[in-house]
Amino acid sequence: PVRGSELCLSVFDALGNPVQIADDVLIYDATGRHPAPSAAAEIAAAGKRVTFVARDPSIAPEMEHHSSITYRKAFAEHNVHVLLEHELVSVSAQDGRRLAVLRHLLTGRELSTTHSQIIVEHGTIPVNGLFDELRLLSVNDGATEIASLIGPAPLRERAPNGFELHRIGDAVSSRSVHAAMLDALRLGLQF
Ligand SMILES: Cc1cc2nc3c(=O)[nH]c(=O)nc-3n(C[C@H](O)[C@H](O)[C@H](O)COP(=O)(O)OP(=O)(O)OC[C@H]3O[C@@H](n4cnc5c(N)ncnc54)[C@H](O)[C@@H]3O)c2cc1C
Repeated sequence: PVRGSELCLSVFDALGNPVQIADDVLIYDATGRHPAPSAAAEIAAAGKRVTFVARDPSIAPEMEHHSSITYRKAFAEHNVHVLLEHELVSVSAQDGRRLAVLRHLLTGRELSTTHSQIIVEHGTIPVNGLFDELRLLSVNDGATEIASLIGPAPLRERAPNGFELHRIGDAVSSRSVHAAMLDALRLGLQF
């Protein structure tokens, strides 16, 4: 959703290949979950200058207290500059650097800031190709009845032939390791 997103890296790109990280980066967090603050802490600990911008009024508000305080401590230790309640409006190229336009969510006031790289965390979108192909062949049309995941197993009859297809974890929507494991556990118990 960010104008100029093709000029940005995602947290997956950034942590997957740390050597490509520049000396002066802006990390934008639009989810309030682990990915952006963990990337910021990691990159700042490697000696880079990091500006952390978030939509939320605090750092990692979706996370439990012991996680958010760990990130806040790491940010303080490595002098991460924090700017809260701002959204990233656009990114453009300027003299080999990246010009980011930020908007304060309460006042609407805009400000511009320039960095070597912009790293964006906006969650993920599932890659559905394989699921869509298998769905046509499955006996349940790829649908998981939520009610059938709760209670003692087995809650329902298995189809005598063919296979069932279920989606779990981030293949449903961008969430966490815990959500993916709970989905898998519930599904496994019913089989
Ligand atoms: C930087 C970062 C930090 C994070 N920190 C945390 C954290 O601290 N705690 C937390 O709970 N969550 C965290 N998350 C989120 C967490 O990583 C995901 O929610 C979780 O990994 C989802 O698990 P999953 O098994 O559904 O999918 P994935 O972990 O994405 O696993 C899917 C696997 O399927 C493989 N695959 C895809 N297509 C095919 C195919 N066609 N054939 C074969 N294999 C295929 C992929 O290569 C991948 O290995 C973080 C995410 C990021 C990016």
